[in-house]
Amino acid sequence: MANSNPTLPPSSDRAAIVETLARAFADAGEELFLVGGAIRDALLGEQDLDLDFATSARPRTTVEIAERLGLGSPYRVGEKYGTIGVRIGDRVAEITTYRSKEMYEPGSRKPDVEFGTTLLQDLSRRDFTINAMARNPRDGTLLDPLGGEADLSAGILRAVGDPFERFQEDPLRLLRGVRFAARLGFTIEAETWRAIAETAGALSSVSRERIRDEYTRMLEGSRPSRALTLLRESGLLPASVPGLIPLTQMTDHGPRHPLSLWDHTLQVVDAVPPTLALRWAAVLHDIAKPATRTHEPSGRPRFFHHEEVGAGMARQILSDLRYSGDVIDAVVLLVETHMQLHSYTADWTDGAVRRLMLRLGTRTAEAIMLARADAAGHTLGEPAHNAPKFDELEARIQRNQNEEITRMRSPLTGNDLMSRYQRQPGPWIGKIKSALENAVIDGELSPDDRERAWRIADALVARDV
Ligand code: ATP
Ligand code: MG
Repeated sequence: MANSNPTLPPSSDRAAIVETLARAFADAGEELFLVGGAIRDALLGEQDLDLDFATSARPRTTVEIAERLGLGSPYRVGEKYGTIGVRIGDRVAEITTYRSKEMYEPGSRKPDVEFGTTLLQDLSRRDFTINAMARNPRDGTLLDPLGGEADLSAGILRAVGDPFERFQEDPLRLLRGVRFAARLGFTIEAETWRAIAETAGALSSVSRERIRDEYTRMLEGSRPSRALTLLRESGLLPASVPGLIPLTQMTDHGPRHPLSLWDHTLQVVDAVPPTLALRWAAVLHDIAKPATRTHEPSGRPRFFHHEEVGAGMARQILSDLRYSGDVIDAVVLLVETHMQLHSYTADWTDGAVRRLMLRLGTRTAEAIMLARADAAGHTLGEPAHNAPKFDELEARIQRNQNEEITRMRSPLTGNDLMSRYQRQPGPWIGKIKSALENAVIDGELSPDDRERAWRIADALVARDV
């Protein structure tokens, strides 16, 4: 057993910790390899990597070794699945016992796993060849029995072994495949692609949470349009998020829009910064156009209220994917308001600008980014002619920001009103308060001026509001 004194000083750097870990496992007679995405990304020259290890050691042994090395208290939440987390520098590395099989019961978020005994077994149950390489941390040798390196340099995404079997075992791999191909700009190998298209329906057995997490990663990636294109071409889009089907259903988008709804949506999605709510808002901003489409006598299509109907559809789609209330509310707000930003003109009063800001709250900057991308996404890559309009709106928002927009509330509360007029709660309170708030926003009433506020309220009550 470990004889040298391998306990680590807390400040040890990553390489030294990996080295010590490798030695401790070897001393215990166990194998330990770096595996998975870290190997792939390092071969692609990417830095700042997650560390995943595969080992012959059973979880209990891994915990003992980690504790002996003083690697903090190991994270044991994944122990049942063979995964132990240890802190290496400022990161958590996962050390997972070799698996021979990893299956997901329909709808389940956690796999059924069988422990294996060899590295080859463990690599063979992984999803794609580029994710199925290992490196010996002691001497740096690459172990690549499945040809991952060749596929990586040829830019090919290929399932390990029989793709149909791989996707049957865990249909989430269908989405993972698209995500990796999109992120890396790889071609999906023909048999793998055929299996994806033919197995797409199996996604219905995958939990919504796992599907959600894949969509999140795809949308936060650098070219989400590539992922969306592959999703559509493979049939995975209707199989995973059927609520998105309307986006594919409107090729004729009217004379003002040279692109189909789908192509327009892809342009907007790529053009907004990669934050989750903004990317989803870009996907969903026009989702209700097909449903709200009407025609003028001239034949020109109109899409009245598509932003409101679309906000409802967005809420439905994202709730079904089990996104958090915060994410859903942010996307719904951005979808619901997107036409309001387009309607901006220089003759808006400051009150109108402030009202928009109050409605958008902390999402104001994102709403402008969406509006800019949306406008640019109608012009086939030409510089958007209405960029100056959004520059101006942004400048006016900046100016108003200094005026503490959040203080712009009615000087009187509902309780104030009820006790003065001796009336029961009811819609009359909202009417008076919003009249007062609007007067504040329009700069006609100071938020502290209760005296003047009472005069306005008295007048409204006298008119039997
Ligand atoms: P990234 O973290 O950049 O998305 P990754 O390859 O590290 O990519 P992880 O989900 O972190 O992906 O998984 C680490 C490794 O575990 C993968 O490289 C792959 O070998 C294996 N793996 C993960 N999920 C699955 C799965 N559903 N089926 C088969 N193998 C998987
Ligand atoms: Mg990873």
